[in-house]
Amino acid sequence: MMIQIEHLDKQYGVFTALVDINLTVLAGEFIAILGPSGCGKTTLLKLLAGFIKPTAGQIMLNGELVGSAHSLKPPEKRNLGMVFQSFALWPHMTVEEHILFPLKHHRFAEAKRKQDQRARVDTVLQMVGLESLKKRYPSELSGGQGQRVALARAIAPRPSILLMDEPLSALDAELRIEMRKEIQTIHRQTGTTVVYVTHDQGEALAMADRIVVMNQGRVEQVDSPETIYTRPKSVFVSRFVGKSNVMEGQWISTDTFMPKGFPSVQWKDLGVSLELKRQNVYPIRPEQWKLEEPSPGQLNGKVLFAQFQGNEVHYTVSVEEQLLTIYSPIYEKRYEPGNEVSVRLRIPANLLLRI
Ligand code: ATP
Repeated sequence: MMIQIEHLDKQYGVFTALVDINLTVLAGEFIAILGPSGCGKTTLLKLLAGFIKPTAGQIMLNGELVGSAHSLKPPEKRNLGMVFQSFALWPHMTVEEHILFPLKHHRFAEAKRKQDQRARVDTVLQMVGLESLKKRYPSELSGGQGQRVALARAIAPRPSILLMDEPLSALDAELRIEMRKEIQTIHRQTGTTVVYVTHDQGEALAMADRIVVMNQGRVEQVDSPETIYTRPKSVFVSRFVGKSNVMEGQWISTDTFMPKGFPSVQWKDLGVSLELKRQNVYPIRPEQWKLEEPSPGQLNGKVLFAQFQGNEVHYTVSVEEQLLTIYSPIYEKRYEPGNEVSVRLRIPANLLLRI
């Protein structure tokens, strides 16, 4: 176990930022901390880094107690690498000097000899694809290249844990997606344990081994990206990850749901968690709906918006005062704002046999 967090609380004065956080991270895991603005993601990362002290509970890194209300091991003694949103490069240092610097000064750096340090700089430059730019200064780099320097600087001393706080948010959309792959590749090559803070579900789903979904200072769910997406445990997770429409009604048996107000409609279970069944709700992701012509007894409604998105059309449909978000493939029949439609649950062909 690389990281163990037990009953961790953090208060800023009277404000409670984190409540009873428990989390275990294995060596080499890539963990994403995902949640909306203000939910406490950065606070958790700062506690892991040792910038701030817990109010209660404890943090162990590599089996050693490093943070509690009574003790705090300082950041420079925790063998961590860090990459932040504002990647803070030093304007007077070239790319290679950025990478050399932590090797000379980091107390955990393995490379003590000058020759080893140079070799390490070359290896890291190669990993992030910056060999040809090593003599450049930050002002001569693009945003993506600058972020690669920050990443290289963080991994050069081979930290056992790499903490990243929204490292891609300063980059444009295309570059963000490109850098996801690069970070994943570097993670695979180095085997470093990664804790990656983001509010972007796409990043968390694409990169992490496990996602910690946070809401208002608490952990809502910790699971693999696929489980988080397909079997959310709470209404919050189903809405935040996957933009589900949460339908109220009743689970009349373990695998049949009757939406409220539509007694003639029954939906089969396409993977709803026990926790949500207990709350008598059914989360339906936008791509799980299908639009058809209106028919009696069905969930009939009216299209309010239709947005062409290239691969899909995104609809907003009002059904009984509720606004549903629906994504349809573009090859299906199109509807326009004002059209009357019926909304059905799309059952994937491979599940039809089981149901
Ligand atoms: P964002 O995605 O916007 O960065 P976050 O999830 O990282 O948000 P935190 O920065 O951890 O959130 O902040 C959690 C809560 O604690 C917020 O409500 C914030 O206002 C509050 N907070 C953070 N730092 C302090 C501080 N030093 N003093 C008082 N309150 C603070």
